[in-house]
Amino acid sequence: MKATLAPSSLTCLPNPHRTTFRSSPPLWLRPSSASMSTTTARGSVAVTAAAATSLRQGIAEFYNETSGLWEEIWGDHMHHGFYDPNSSLQLSDSGHREAQIRMIEESLRFAGVNGEEEEQRIKRVVDVGCGIGGSSRYLASKFGAECIGITLSPLQAKRANDLSAAQSLSHKVSFQVADALEQPFEDGKFDLVWSMESGEHMPDKAKFVNELARVAAPGGRIIIVTWCHRNLSQGEEALQPWEQNLLDRICKTFYLPAWCSTSDYVNLLQSLSLQDIKCADWSENVAPFWPAVIRTALTWNGLFSLLRSGMKSIKGALTMPLMIEGYKKGVIKFGIITCRKPL
Ligand code: SAH
Repeated sequence: MKATLAPSSLTCLPNPHRTTFRSSPPLWLRPSSASMSTTTARGSVAVTAAAATSLRQGIAEFYNETSGLWEEIWGDHMHHGFYDPNSSLQLSDSGHREAQIRMIEESLRFAGVNGEEEEQRIKRVVDVGCGIGGSSRYLASKFGAECIGITLSPLQAKRANDLSAAQSLSHKVSFQVADALEQPFEDGKFDLVWSMESGEHMPDKAKFVNELARVAAPGGRIIIVTWCHRNLSQGEEALQPWEQNLLDRICKTFYLPAWCSTSDYVNLLQSLSLQDIKCADWSENVAPFWPAVIRTALTWNGLFSLLRSGMKSIKGALTMPLMIEGYKKGVIKFGIITCRKPL
């Protein structure tokens, strides 16, 4: 059964993007340069099973190859930091690490997971697309909760488990290789469903959101922080060709399928009758991040490590300026979308 929520139950901050339902095919089913898609007999665009398998393999290999380098330079959080937009302060390395922790805290606060009562309710957490487990360990320690992380990369899962053992957290957190689109968990298991910068890798956003909702416990929170493209204006059917071209170039290097907008995510959450749906555009809060990553890559240590790490890392580094361009031109949006599963 599908139901839409009353407009008053949807909040978008700081710039409200009131959701409009489109009659055109959903954006996440559009082809991207990664040859993910095919036109079906009925004319709609679908992701083939073979293309999805090859994407999964590509993602696993990408993170197998690049995670060590990232950890060496940036530590165990593989996501943007959250910054004050108007601060001109030049941050130290530790300042950027703090910004990454702040990203986690701001995300929880935005979703309403704050205050003693709310925090005590969090007993079980799933970290969907967990990297090497930075968020999982942080959340498990903060809430005293059990946390399970899933990733496509065997190397990440092993490293995440090793780091957790070294920090005496193995009784609280564990990691395994599993697909976010077919999670090996029973329905309603988790009080907090956490996806920090993994949604952009998902070739089927509807299935992704469905799985997040399925494994959430009644009353549980879902937090999706992800790369999106801008919302389309009223009457606009697609991004401009130059915008699509920019995203396609990023897709190739970072193993991403077609992108969608925060409004598309909101539509999906609404179609599942989820509650307290909120979204925000945090692009300005993450603006200092990629320039900082590029600066670290351009140090002697960074360059040496890049060369040692391999082609995927080098291509990744060369793609970073495109991320900055995408944000500056307003094509790329750093989105947070949160909601609660009804009791
Ligand atoms: N959330 C982590 C890592 C972000 S990097 C952090 O903030 O540190 C993106 C992660 O998403 C990687 O771990 C990658 O393996 C994972 N991922 C991408 N597609 C996935 C899928 N279909 N199933 C499970 N994990 C996936």
